[in-house]
Parts: sequence; C-alpha cells; structure tokens
Amino acid sequence: MKYKFCPLCKSTLKHKKIDSHKRQVCLDCGFIYYQNPTPAVAVIIMIGGKLVMVKRKYEPFAGLWTLPAGFMEYGESAQECATREAKEETNLRIKTGDLVGVYNGLDDPRSHVILVVYQAQALSSNLLAGDDASQIELFSPRNLPRDIAFKAHRSAIRDFLARQR
Ligand SMILES: [Zn+2]
Repeated sequence: MKYKFCPLCKSTLKHKKIDSHKRQVCLDCGFIYYQNPTPAVAVIIMIGGKLVMVKRKYEPFAGLWTLPAGFMEYGESAQECATREAKEETNLRIKTGDLVGVYNGLDDPRSHVILVVYQAQALSSNLLAGDDASQIELFSPRNLPRDIAFKAHRSAIRDFLARQR
C-alpha cells in the first residue's frame, strides 16, 4: 500500500530508509508510515465429519473456496474475530477450540496477511451463506474442492487433517 499524503498534516510523503526498511515519511511533521502485516482469522468447523467451507463472493479469488475467515477488527481478539466471521459467513454460532496454527499469507493482493486458524465447534446447525460468501458447503476431507483460495488456508486444512489421523 502506498499513500500520497501525510494523514496528519497533508504534506506529500517521501521515501526514507528507517531501521533498514524503506518507509514513507513526512518531512514536515515527522510522521512515519509503518506498514505492518494484517492479522486475519479462519476457522475449521467440522459437522458430521465434514468441513465447512464457503465460496468467495468478491475479489480477490472470487468463486474459489476458503475456510470461513476474515480480517480482525481493531480491539477484537482472535477468538472474537473467529466467532464473528463464522456467524457472518455461515450463520453458525461456534465455540473456538484449539489453535491449528499461525500462517504467513503472501498471496493475498490486499496485504501481507498473518492468518490465525482455530478449530471450532458448531453450536447451531442452520447453515446459511452470508456476507461475502456466495455459497456454503460441507466437504468430506477425502473430497475437498480443488480450487481453494490462499495457500495459508490450504496449509491449515492439511495440518488439521494430518493431526486427525
Ligand atoms: Zn506530516
């Protein structure tokens, strides 16, 4: 992400090397834009031995399958994000369980993503695709869709299933 103007004083931002990173800085007021990775959370929900997956409605990777997931809101915990995203995308009420892993996501054009993945238990069963999901489906681990968006999601599913055996 590149910005043109300082968000504090509206001067044009310049590039400068600080702490061995090239950063955007404001030479007038001293503002430094520290670009950090974006935390996101995904959940692995199994119902009757099948994995809950949603089809993406929007770009990037519209039409591809993912775990229910989304970016964390400021002030939200990872578990709260997992619960909120599951509700928004699948309509399921969930209880988060063990951490599956933390994954480095470099294939999302929007940001460098740090994906936290939890196992979760469904507390309700009325699946309904919502928010940025166009479709929702249960997949047998032996018959997962080929077109799963994001390497971090594929890795988390693989790690989770490997531990089930
Ligand atoms: Zn400034």
